[in-house]
Amino acid sequence: MAVLPIRITGDPVLHAVASPVTEFDGELTQLVADMFETMEAAPGVGLAAPQVGIGLRLFVYNWEDDDEVLWRGVAVNPELLISTTSLDEADEDDDSEGCLSIPGERFPLRRADRAVLRAIDLDQQPFEIDATGWLARIFQHEYDHLDGILYADRLGHDDAKAARKVIKKRQWGTPGLSWTPGEEQLEG
Ligand code: ZN
Repeated sequence: MAVLPIRITGDPVLHAVASPVTEFDGELTQLVADMFETMEAAPGVGLAAPQVGIGLRLFVYNWEDDDEVLWRGVAVNPELLISTTSLDEADEDDDSEGCLSIPGERFPLRRADRAVLRAIDLDQQPFEIDATGWLARIFQHEYDHLDGILYADRLGHDDAKAARKVIKKRQWGTPGLSWTPGEEQLEG
């Protein structure tokens, strides 16, 4: 297993629509194992294949809810059905979202409160999870990655402006940038 470099916003793989998984082989098993290790090292609650440079429709997630239920798994070729999203302004605290591909930053974003995930696992067995709250947010965030959408693309006007500013300031937004969890970060 290995911790993989995580691509930073601006890398083309993060902004392209990913392709369905068709080969369920040892390579895929290895990729998923590495993605779990990378997500845990980051640490993060979800990680999509494009974030490690692989343009395939799959993501991993790992999150414990308030009742200490652990939601952990891999979703391959997922579909996501979401409830309507409130048009109210996003709450600075309750809706604060982050992304390993925009490391260290957080912005508030409204998400649908309920999302039904339908996917297959590595054994190609279908499963369905009817998620609410933060788990529904994780699924929406990760699913978006498979369509080349980052949460920064969905922010309200002022936050979008602030996000663009921070991305520019950190000299992100260009191809080829990544960071590797556990390695010393160079501040520049
Ligand atoms: Zn993300």
